Amino acid sequence: MTAPFNFSAGPAMLPRAVLERAQEELRSWRGSGISVMEISHRDPAFMQMAFQAEQDLRDLMAIPQNYQVLFMHGGGRGQFSAVPQNIAAPNATVDYLNCGIWSDFAIREAQKYVAKVNVVAGVIDTDQGRAIAPANSWQVSEDAAYFHYCPNETVDGLALHQIPSHIKAPLVADMSSTILSEPLAVEQFGIIYAGAQKNIGPSGFAIAIVREDLLGHAQGSTSTIMDYTVQAQDRSMYNTPNTWAWYLSGLVFEWLKEQGGVAAMGAINQQKADLLYRYIDSSAFYSNPVHPDYRSKMNVPFLLADSALDGKFLQLAEAQGLLGLKGHRFVGGMRASIYNAMPLEGVQALVSFMQEFEQKHT
Ligand code: PMP
Repeated sequence: MTAPFNFSAGPAMLPRAVLERAQEELRSWRGSGISVMEISHRDPAFMQMAFQAEQDLRDLMAIPQNYQVLFMHGGGRGQFSAVPQNIAAPNATVDYLNCGIWSDFAIREAQKYVAKVNVVAGVIDTDQGRAIAPANSWQVSEDAAYFHYCPNETVDGLALHQIPSHIKAPLVADMSSTILSEPLAVEQFGIIYAGAQKNIGPSGFAIAIVREDLLGHAQGSTSTIMDYTVQAQDRSMYNTPNTWAWYLSGLVFEWLKEQGGVAAMGAINQQKADLLYRYIDSSAFYSNPVHPDYRSKMNVPFLLADSALDGKFLQLAEAQGLLGLKGHRFVGGMRASIYNAMPLEGVQALVSFMQEFEQKHT
């Protein structure tokens, strides 16, 4: 594959094969003469496609039978409010690990719906870089309705690679930027959710994987489209779902299966991350602020030794077809997001460009 390579954090790169297939089918889906966007979600052909997409996701993630897979509206942030409303009473205590910017937004949203949001721990500075406080220091509540964390902080490039194993409350994970990137023990979670626009499909769409014993407890004021129980009963078709996003996500799942599933993705994602971090660590010109054990394999933030060169770096990178490398507006610097759709060649092209830029400016 050749440039352009899109390193955007999200909406992010989609597999080229998926875009080509969608283009081919755009004007006449399955020989119907009309597009998939113009068909009723109750049409048997649409429903067959939608439920096949669900099955493919179940196969890819080995989702046990006692979990519902919900296709929801409202992206990742929609789930920040859906989670407390669905599985905590207004007078409940809930636990949150604060790993970074997205955890922080989730905490602030939860505060609207429950009496006590207990932040168990946060990010610490170590002499090897930023890290997450060790699990034995977390101030976990005795009676939390759930424990929420974000295993991969997209902006900070900080990841918790081990699933917290000592938590009694149901584990809830915001996997917006890490879902489907490697094998995962779904059965250890109460809820896994993800905004779609990184490893799944278009933005505004989200997937929630909910263990069935957590259904049936929504607060009375929960809006019906965000009620997991209603969406589970209606197979995510309580109201008109985002049919286009569902279709494209289904194509991505098919593509993932063809690539060998999440085990194959995990191996290549590790290779991509190793290549980029190894180069950053070997260079005095670039740096990554995260402790090696907590580095994200999906979002790699890096700084130039001289931030006055940031603009030039981005401009030259873009001219070579290396797109979307500007860091998040909250933190600046650069960030390379290397989700499933990014081929190894893309990371190789980025490293070559970084080497060339370093040589010219030192
Ligand atoms: N959680 C994480 C980890 C994210 O990276 C993002 C978006 N970048 C969100 C939540 C919010 O997603 P959305 O914009 O779809 O609401």
